Amino acid sequence: MYDYVVVGAGAVGVATAYHLKRLSPSSRVLLVDQYHGPGMGDTAKSAAAFRTIFTSWINRTLAKTSVEFYRDVQKSGVDLGMRWVGYLFLIPEEARELMLGVARELREIGVEVDVLERHALPLRYKVSEDEEAREMGLPDVSLSLLVREAGIMDPEKLVRYYYELYTKEGGEVLFNAKVESITLSPKKPLEIPGEPFPWQDVRATGVETTAGAIEARSVVLATGAWTQGIADAMGFGLPLKPRKRQIFVVKAEGDLRDLLETGVADRDYAPFIALPKGIYLRPEPGEG
Ligand SMILES: Cc1cc2nc3c(=O)[nH]c(=O)nc-3n(C[C@H](O)[C@H](O)[C@H](O)COP(=O)(O)OP(=O)(O)OC[C@H]3O[C@@H](n4cnc5c(N)ncnc54)[C@H](O)[C@@H]3O)c2cc1C
Repeated sequence: MYDYVVVGAGAVGVATAYHLKRLSPSSRVLLVDQYHGPGMGDTAKSAAAFRTIFTSWINRTLAKTSVEFYRDVQKSGVDLGMRWVGYLFLIPEEARELMLGVARELREIGVEVDVLERHALPLRYKVSEDEEAREMGLPDVSLSLLVREAGIMDPEKLVRYYYELYTKEGGEVLFNAKVESITLSPKKPLEIPGEPFPWQDVRATGVETTAGAIEARSVVLATGAWTQGIADAMGFGLPLKPRKRQIFVVKAEGDLRDLLETGVADRDYAPFIALPKGIYLRPEPGEG
């Protein structure tokens, strides 16, 4: 019998499993994943850009404290691949006032934000007459916001950091095991065959996996984009729907290389650039 089963060994699962073990060293914790190692789901595909600029204050506060935490980890000698290239938002006219307000609020909580009407990067602000921009519905850019306390990190190194700490603390793992359902047991068992009945209050007491049943006092779902499927099987509707996105990896040549090698402010590399419409460019220092 485990005290905790954490399902999903992505960035969230490994961090959760480690902190459970750290806070309660005598607890038996099991980390389960359907793949053959940690960090092979969305975490492996992540652009892993970090920033402190969000429109909701709770996200801003969480992000700021997390960035500070990882900065300290990296300073202590653990390489998380953090590069402070900055984060540049290109803002269209219609979002100008909103984002200027966000910039003011960020400054109030101590986040350094530059509002730039123009900058050194070889980027054009006026694009709406280009055929490609029209096809993609890309508007002209009115101004940009540069957050300096932002950049990119290496998701594999982050996972390895937590995973090594977790296993060193005695945390257990089970890979290549897909969780097919959560075992639900009645809170007040009647010892009648067929429990739990629909009218009984239930709690999670383990998981059924392709490698067998596992009993646990608590089950933590850290299954990311897969969570909806598991929740559906338990009868919970979750407002979580994975959406397909596209990633292109291109070698920086010509104009793109100029862009990649032009840092803003004190950086020697292009920042992470967020365009309107959810499109972004992520530099890969060292690989071009
Ligand atoms: C293309 C892309 C770009 C991104 N860019 C950024 C970015 O720049 N900055 C940022 O902060 N975030 C970014 N993200 C989001 C970020 O990567 C995710 O929020 C984060 O990695 C989620 O971690 P997770 O542990 O919740 O999920 P995951 O890494 O997906 O982990 C979930 C794990 O659960 C396991 N699992 C699921 N179901 C089961 C089951 N039934 N049984 C056993 N195991 C199961 C999976 O195998 C997987 O390993 C990006 C994501 C993508 C896809």
